Amino acid sequence: MPETVYILDPIHPAGAERIAAAHDVITPQQGASDPRIPDTTFIVIRTTELPEALIARMPRLKAIVKHGAGVDNIPIPFATGRGVMVANTPGGNNSTAVAEGAVTLMLAVLRRVREMDAVVREDRWDERWKTRLSDLTGAKVGLIGFGRIARCTARICGAGFGAEIAAYDPMLSDEDIRAAGATPMKLEELLGWADAISIHVPLTESTRNLIGARELGLMHSGAVIVNTSRGGIIDEPALAEALRAERIGGAGIDVFEHEPPPADHPLFALPNAVLSPHVAGVTEASMKGMALACAEVIDTVLAGERPATLLNPEVLP
Ligand code: NAD
Repeated sequence: MPETVYILDPIHPAGAERIAAAHDVITPQQGASDPRIPDTTFIVIRTTELPEALIARMPRLKAIVKHGAGVDNIPIPFATGRGVMVANTPGGNNSTAVAEGAVTLMLAVLRRVREMDAVVREDRWDERWKTRLSDLTGAKVGLIGFGRIARCTARICGAGFGAEIAAYDPMLSDEDIRAAGATPMKLEELLGWADAISIHVPLTESTRNLIGARELGLMHSGAVIVNTSRGGIIDEPALAEALRAERIGGAGIDVFEHEPPPADHPLFALPNAVLSPHVAGVTEASMKGMALACAEVIDTVLAGERPATLLNPEVLP
């Protein structure tokens, strides 16, 4: 029996075609005015905010399948209240892609890639030695959150650059963190210790504004901070102020509190900030892997089995 699958955001053709081969698909172009919306049994979604009102229009909805890891755009309690499963597709190529994205930003900031590029293009060759460039090799790398993506980042920095790794993750025991090759630290200690900090936590009530003016003030003056997790975890005005005053060495930011950020965003004017448009995880392999993983979750639910990444098991009997 074909199901009605509403794919809210564009996904890789490998997954889209696999879903469309078996089911009736509502595409992002057809949108929420499509007359088949009430028949929807599966939603596939990336980062679009999912309104409760849209879920309420779908009495037959079985599952919301998140393409990716972060689920802060999905009203999970509302879905749970209606008996709708929510599953995500973390790990695999997506974790390695985001970790590579985080290390790319780390290196871009430490090596001041933006400013060096401008020196060449703007015929300012004589200024090339005025800027201090720093190493990742042998650096102290502090990870905030020590889940899948942070552990990939730790492996790249440790094995590839001989970096010392520390992690702050209050949900894990010190033994778990040590077993995965990092030194457990409290947040304040890690902020003062690290040369490069990378954030890998979900956006929740406990992580919103986790890094504000006080925390940035604990970093040493050459240290850099990278955020590929979610906007809203670093206080953006406080970060801009720390960068403007050169109280920290630089920042690499892939995610913003409001996306796209407004044209007058304070980070845009700062040379020691390297920015990217929420694409740390958007590589070809990662997009293909996540799209196929979404198709797998649909198949699993239709087979009457429990998806391995089910986030609200309380909906099951
Ligand atoms: P994960 O669940 O494997 O790891 C998250 C870790 O954060 C867990 O170990 C958890 O214990 C820890 N944590 C939770 N609350 C914390 C807190 N208050 N302080 C410190 N640690 C805390 O998730 P993951 O797959 O590593 O993904 C992490 C996040 O990365 C996602 O939630 C998502 O928001 C983001 N992400 C971004 C992109 C991108 O393209 N930029 C792509 C994928 C994921």
